[in-house]
Amino acid sequence: MKRVVLFLLILCIGGNFNKSEANNNQTNQLYQAERVLMDQKGSVFLKNRGEVNRYLNSIFADSWFKKNFKIQKPQLIKSDKPDWAFSVLSGAGGKIAVPDSGCWNWVILHEVAHHIVPNDNHGRNFAKVELILIEHFLNSGASNALRQSFKKNNVKF
Ligand SMILES: [Zn+2]
Repeated sequence: MKRVVLFLLILCIGGNFNKSEANNNQTNQLYQAERVLMDQKGSVFLKNRGEVNRYLNSIFADSWFKKNFKIQKPQLIKSDKPDWAFSVLSGAGGKIAVPDSGCWNWVILHEVAHHIVPNDNHGRNFAKVELILIEHFLNSGASNALRQSFKKNNVKF
């Protein structure tokens, strides 16, 4: 039986938070902590799904990524929420939904982390994987800034 779980929506354009998870402290703290990434070198806003698709392809073509994470590339679909990218996780290949207006490159790394640890929501393992992806695909300055921001915002990782 195919179980499809709609996982939380990550801020795509700064300042928007998922109110349906208002009681989830780790999630809200992680969203808050991620905002530090907007100011980091290597942080790029991908202006449409074509750019997002090229970025996603480059992640899944990366030899380090392929060696460490044996997952199928999620299908990129259109998000029906104007300012939100989110992931749909399922047993057999998931999806990443992105609005027409695009999203930050690190939002795509956040979404890919969901597909690597599909049963952790925004837990410790998710946060660890996100740091690893940010370090590899952005740079160590960005991952250090995110790590410090996790500590400051009481994100468990
Ligand atoms: Zn998320």
